[in-house]
Amino acid sequence: MTLFDSPSFSNHEGVHAFYDDKTGLKAIVAVHSTARGPACGGTRMWNYASSAEALEDVLRLSKGMSYKNAVADLEMGGGKSVIIGDARTQKTPELFQAFGRAVESLGGVYYAAEDVGVSVADMAVARQETAYVLGLKDGPEASGDPSPVTAEGVYRSTLAVVRRLWKQDDLTGLTVAIQGIGHVGGYLADKLAAAGAKLVMTDVNAGLLAEVASRTGARIVAPDAIYDVPADIYAPCALGATLNATTLDRLSVKAVVGAANNQLATAEIGQALFERGVLYAPDYVVNGGGIINVASELRARQTGTAYDPAWVEAKLARLIETFEEILDRSASQRMPTHQVADAVAEGRIHAAEAMKLAA
Ligand code: NAD
Repeated sequence: MTLFDSPSFSNHEGVHAFYDDKTGLKAIVAVHSTARGPACGGTRMWNYASSAEALEDVLRLSKGMSYKNAVADLEMGGGKSVIIGDARTQKTPELFQAFGRAVESLGGVYYAAEDVGVSVADMAVARQETAYVLGLKDGPEASGDPSPVTAEGVYRSTLAVVRRLWKQDDLTGLTVAIQGIGHVGGYLADKLAAAGAKLVMTDVNAGLLAEVASRTGARIVAPDAIYDVPADIYAPCALGATLNATTLDRLSVKAVVGAANNQLATAEIGQALFERGVLYAPDYVVNGGGIINVASELRARQTGTAYDPAWVEAKLARLIETFEEILDRSASQRMPTHQVADAVAEGRIHAAEAMKLAA
């Protein structure tokens, strides 16, 4: 497979391959769009079976970041990077320094951050070689762990859905089935329980599951049983593609609101959910709190100020308004929510492109 005829190529502005003989670094940085600002998106380290598979992933993910950043109304474009290798056995400081030099060579077109297989500590090593890294733990502008902000966004989105479907302002009498109670799912479980929800939860980490279930009064089920739980809302907070041809018939919920990325296995599943009257909260809209938190770090750096929680709150509040607008349009135009969200993102990206051209 080549680049331009890949099914995931979507007019990407730049795709950069890096190789470093000394450290064994093999990385690809994809810049989908810089129309709204520098391309921002995490760095994933994964043992891809082939470089073609890595290319597919980085093309798809970088486009997703353009959409997520646009919907969150951030002055950032979309990009992503992948390091090909086993994150358990092939990480070295030298590898991340080499990666930092690769990012530096792009001159600020792309900002990296942690993602699957890459920790904040790894990114701190890359930072030794480049300023174009976000999501750090130390320093006045550092934004720290994005998970609480992500969970807050998912929680407020859940409340918005509850107001529409059940005409109530809290979750009293409603059951939420949560898959994955890690960083985001754990905070979300606390908030939902405090708002009166009955929780059913699962995780593959039995120790963590017991702890979160005991403090939230949740019922525990086995990982695969979560789809069959009689519940009102399904909150996927672990894996992608859990809304698929197999789970569709098992889920009995009226709404899906969760933090996981890429929840729909295919766009057709989004259409099928819509036809069945299940309200699907588009993942990259409701989980945008995390990237808003990261963006605050870029803003602080650009303006020479410190991390500003009030700015984060204002952006998060606006994101929830955008989510409500997406639900309104979905209802009035009889269009699945994921399609409306894409249209909002594309509209914002195209408007920025037009402004750039006119400038
Ligand atoms: P995490 O790794 O802290 O938590 C994920 C949890 O899912 C873990 O506890 C893990 O044991 C569990 N899990 C894994 N496989 C499972 C399975 N088959 N069944 C049930 N549980 C399983 O990750 P996180 O940071 O909480 O992120 C959760 C999801 O939200 C991911 O899809 C992530 O990409 C997405 N997301 C996270 C953020 C953020 O701010 N952390 C922002 C946007 C999107």
